[in-house]
Amino acid sequence: MVPNLGNEESPEPPPARKGARRLPRRESALVWWALFAAFAGAALWLQSWRLALFGLLTWCLYQFTLVPTLCRVLKREGYPCAERVRGRLFACAPNHQQLKNDAVWRLVGLRDPFQKGDPDPDPETGGVVHSPYVRGRLTQADRALILLAAVGTLVTLVSMIYGFR
Ligand SMILES: [Zn+2]
Repeated sequence: MVPNLGNEESPEPPPARKGARRLPRRESALVWWALFAAFAGAALWLQSWRLALFGLLTWCLYQFTLVPTLCRVLKREGYPCAERVRGRLFACAPNHQQLKNDAVWRLVGLRDPFQKGDPDPDPETGGVVHSPYVRGRLTQADRALILLAAVGTLVTLVSMIYGFR
């Protein structure tokens, strides 16, 4: 029997989809995609690379900080955290955030310079034990989109530097 650690760590694994549906609705991702489509359309229509860049930058910031998504850090019990968050860089709580920060640093091949030891150590209460490395691991989609958004941000910055001279 796994001791109950409170609501945050409730032992029954809620499937992410079901958990998400139970909560009040957020705006659909379609709203955002419509916005980006409008940017792309306007940039094409006006033949404006500046507008295109601005749209790209908005998309990158959206992926980093605004996209409605789930925390997905693996909980001690071994299933992904289904708390809703905004932005692929963010997690639901400070302990999950540190695991996620570490994963993002690893994504670019570095160690998190701010991390000291396991940010969310396992109290000796049982549950499936995963290393922080496994727990913070990003999904394929998150990884791909964070990298794409990083590349997009770089492209925007470089184009701005060269374009506005
Ligand atoms: Zn979480």
